Amino acid sequence: MQPRSPKASCRGLIADGRSQGCQRITRDRFSRLISSVKNETGTLAKARPNPDLPRVLLVEDEQPIRDIVVPWLFRDGFDCREAADGRAAMELLAAAEGGNGIWQRLIDDRDALARVAEKALDACHFDANTGGERPGWEEKCSRACYDCLLSYSNQPFHPLIDRHLIREYLLALRTSTTTKKTERSREEHYAWLEERRDQNSNLEREFLKVLYESGRRLPDRAQLRPESGVYAEADFYYERDGLPGICIFCDGPDHDQSNRKESDQRERGKLGDLGYRVLTIRYDSKIDEQLISNRDVFGIGN
Ligand SMILES: [Zn+2]
Repeated sequence: MQPRSPKASCRGLIADGRSQGCQRITRDRFSRLISSVKNETGTLAKARPNPDLPRVLLVEDEQPIRDIVVPWLFRDGFDCREAADGRAAMELLAAAEGGNGIWQRLIDDRDALARVAEKALDACHFDANTGGERPGWEEKCSRACYDCLLSYSNQPFHPLIDRHLIREYLLALRTSTTTKKTERSREEHYAWLEERRDQNSNLEREFLKVLYESGRRLPDRAQLRPESGVYAEADFYYERDGLPGICIFCDGPDHDQSNRKESDQRERGKLGDLGYRVLTIRYDSKIDEQLISNRDVFGIGN
């Protein structure tokens, strides 16, 4: 395949009826043609995206083409973004809220990266299972071609691009699984929580110390308000896979005042309604006993 150029792109737009073929046209004429189509598309109203239609990310290195296609996609109800090349497309995805869920999915779905590697091997003409060449491609594509890695936009790098260089790496990824890396050791995590807890609360300090020293499960977070609409900040928080987590409240004597009691009950009740589990550690009973009666959360320890 030849690299796509403005001339090549407009072959599909201008058919020469007499010769049944396509005219070669000058860049000037191409520009005039694009301008006339753009004038026409410029009159298209930007419709409200239809929520039932998928969102479209148009990756196209020629701006005139994007200028035409994008308004038409909007007209037909697609919510559309555009990017000039793969790098710009990746930046758009990364900048979107939560990376459009892609990064999270790669972490949550332990085989997702392996499937991406499988597709990449296939795109580079390799058999994803054996790593061997797919039939016929060894002769057709020695290092890279326009069916695999080459494009008009990466032309300056063509001498450097070689599909064989990534084969071993992709094969290793092909059999990989993704696991979430714990960033801190238990000691580091304890110090991290200790730094973030309410420094004025002896009960919080004691609770955390007992958990740590007895080898029980440490909370994932400290001082977390899990719902912006609920006025309750958990002193500690345990995550639960895919579910609202467990909120730990360490209540000193000030929580016994009647107005405080009432607001605690109301706001914590809202968290309960939203699916969070709410646990209170009280100052006036032994921490150890309270941990034992909730061993499904804190573990049994040493
Ligand atoms: Zn190729």
